[in-house]
Amino acid sequence: KAKSAGRNMLMFFNPAMAEEMMERHEIEVDLRKASVDGSLELFYQPIVDLKTQVAVSREALMRWRHPVRGMVPPGVFIPIAEQSGLIAAMGDWAIRQACKDAAGWEPGISVSVNVSPLQFREPRRLIDTVKEALIASGLSSRRLTLEITESLLIEDNKLTLSVLEELRALGVSFALDDFGTGYSALAYLSTYPIAQVKIDQSFARDVHNSEAPKAIIEAVCQLARRLQMNVVVEGIETEQQRIAVQLLGAHRAQGYLFGRPESLSNLKQGGGNRSVA
Ligand code: C2E
Ligand code: MG
Ligand code: MG
Ligand code: MG
Repeated sequence: KAKSAGRNMLMFFNPAMAEEMMERHEIEVDLRKASVDGSLELFYQPIVDLKTQVAVSREALMRWRHPVRGMVPPGVFIPIAEQSGLIAAMGDWAIRQACKDAAGWEPGISVSVNVSPLQFREPRRLIDTVKEALIASGLSSRRLTLEITESLLIEDNKLTLSVLEELRALGVSFALDDFGTGYSALAYLSTYPIAQVKIDQSFARDVHNSEAPKAIIEAVCQLARRLQMNVVVEGIETEQQRIAVQLLGAHRAQGYLFGRPESLSNLKQGGGNRSVA
């Protein structure tokens, strides 16, 4: 497999590459339409407090209902949106839509929105979008969390810090997503105004029978406690995993055990509000 990949890279042109490029181009063309024609949608997945097992927040996860391809997952279209520049408009839309949706929920439930590092390249636009989304929806800024990734922080530029601080001053919080998959420099956690660390789902996978993920989750939870941050463990699918991460000191969890991402209309029918207790 690696050998053939190497060979492909050395080739100037081959049919497989051409096909892939055409496919990407086609997706990009369709995505450009989707960002204006209403075929993008936000699904919501509960984030629960491990003590009470009740949802305290919901993460907005973008979905694309493609007329021919069906439901295209974000793992496919977000990278294309980032490479084509479409992410700016799609990201703005997600912030506005999530605030609007969350304003109709029980007041104790917050919303988390994923923000691409590329959205920080137009800081004024991002800040204005957040402000306008909060005003238009009437959602309290305390109920909005923006999920950022380490790739935004590794550049360690003063501009990023000032943008985060300006948003923070509005009352918005930040969660560091997929923690443990990148550099995971612990210094980020004290340098930037981060309220929540989301430990990547790969750590939950064998937390109940393997020492390494246990040690890491426990250490991150201890550090977070000292820095007065919350820890969410992602990807909890079984009761065993839930018990394990709770014993290790995690505050919150997210995963199929508590609920899959669901459309807003399904949430309204009560699907997303059920208690697992
Ligand atoms: P993420 O932010 O880390 O979101 C969590 C992902 O884990 C979601 O995948 C969710 O469906 C999945 N997940 C949740 N619980 C479980 C579980 O118990 N087991 C397993 N196997 N998976 C679980 P999804 O919805 O496919 O999203 C993938 C990624 O796409 C997200 O990862 C995020 O990085 C990105 N993404 C999604 N929506 C947006 C968006 O609006 N903007 C941007 N920039 N990125 C987005
Ligand atoms: Mg996320
Ligand atoms: Mg995540
Ligand atoms: Mg992830």
